[in-house]
Amino acid sequence: MKIFFYNTLTKSKEEFKPLEGNEVRIYTCGPTVYKDASIGNMKSYIFMDTLRRTLKYNGYTLKHAMNITDVGHLVSDGDDGEDKIIIAAEKEKKTPLEIAKFYTEKFLEDFDRLNIDRPEIICKATDHIKEMEEFVQKLLDNGYAYETSTAIYFDVSKLDKYGILSGIDLRNQRAGARVEIDEEKRNPYDFALWIKAPENHIMKWESPWGLCYPGWHIECSTMSNKYLGKVFDIHTGGIDLVPTHHENEIAQSKGCTGEIPARFWMHCEFLLIDGGKMSKSLGNVYLVQDIIDRGYEPLAFKMMCFTSHYRNKLNFTWDAISSSQNALNRLREGYKKHNEGNEKVDESTIEEYKTKFKEAINDDLNMPVAMSVVWDVVKNPNKSKQLANLLLDFDRVLGVDIEKENEQKHIEIPSEINELLEKRKQARENKDWSLSDRIRDELKEKGYIVKDTKEGMTIERI
Ligand code: AMP
Ligand code: ZN
Repeated sequence: MKIFFYNTLTKSKEEFKPLEGNEVRIYTCGPTVYKDASIGNMKSYIFMDTLRRTLKYNGYTLKHAMNITDVGHLVSDGDDGEDKIIIAAEKEKKTPLEIAKFYTEKFLEDFDRLNIDRPEIICKATDHIKEMEEFVQKLLDNGYAYETSTAIYFDVSKLDKYGILSGIDLRNQRAGARVEIDEEKRNPYDFALWIKAPENHIMKWESPWGLCYPGWHIECSTMSNKYLGKVFDIHTGGIDLVPTHHENEIAQSKGCTGEIPARFWMHCEFLLIDGGKMSKSLGNVYLVQDIIDRGYEPLAFKMMCFTSHYRNKLNFTWDAISSSQNALNRLREGYKKHNEGNEKVDESTIEEYKTKFKEAINDDLNMPVAMSVVWDVVKNPNKSKQLANLLLDFDRVLGVDIEKENEQKHIEIPSEINELLEKRKQARENKDWSLSDRIRDELKEKGYIVKDTKEGMTIERI
């Protein structure tokens, strides 16, 4: 059966076939490991997981690389500000390497909790400094880069066109509109490939241009080229990466190899919280651990992601996660009932379900439609092992542990209680302990006990 994916590069749904044989080569932009990954980040990696599983379901083998950004991602996505890892290291009184190791482990732990299939290759930027330096040298040799007193810059005017993913027109951009004016830069959109480290900068390496550290974008071009070759099949990431990071990756690869590095560029839309942006100042940055603390399974969040297409924004609310947990429980109950049944179902019915499911996932990973097929199977009145096996087969794509026994510990939390928990979380973040205690007492009156443990907060019904 044919597979169609939406390609950001051509802005259309196109038929997907691997460039070579039966192997699909994929590159995913991984996390910047300076803090805990949010459930927003995880929406993008759940999309990546569904993509992997769909390709495997279609019989392909995968060679998939994901980077870990442990150097070079500055506070802005451009060339401004300090390195995010260094700021965290100073704040937490650890070395940058300790910070990166700690948050990488936590990130991968979330992958396991969400049953996210790990890429075959997970590669760290700091393990590829030499290769990045060679990439920069090649760009200088090819005339796409130039040296200033502060950095080696990529010269975007050397390309036929810069901005092919996002469609920006450089002629309409004013100098310094995006970043501060640097008199030594030839064009406002030129970006740093290799940055000369100031005296007190912690992470820096010897190079032909002195003690330097890499820019953020060069790591992805270097590692994708190293592990997947000049041109590979699919490049993925969150939608926010399109206008800067991915444009710059394309620019670098064009300058080095003359090619756009990937055939398909696939991007996941953002997760919103209560209809708005997730942000620290609003106190609404949720982690997978917060979902567990509220008595839900991380996989309930995965189920929630399947209620909308990956190219649509998804709104997170605690009521929605509660419904998704119920849906997960119903799905497992449905599987169990079929597995205990002895009725017979026509092979043609099974085939029909299978075709519809595969058509949905092969249509640009249309999970809401795929889930409607799953529910049709669950609701089939003939309780049959054949249908149980079919659900297990679908779980190869869903990855929600259909066979698992439902946990009894899950408790239904009404919206009013969720709102109080929210206020308490906010109070604790503001270090307003008396308000936090008052809310705890109010919750107790309403029949709920909250406990603050080392792992986070837990809630139980009295
Ligand atoms: P970062 O660690 O900030 O580099 O982000 C890791 C990945 O998560 C990137 O692909 C981002 O585009 C993606 N991402 C960040 N925030 C969200 C969000 N709210 N919803 C979906 N994806 C996100
Ligand atoms: Zn990247």
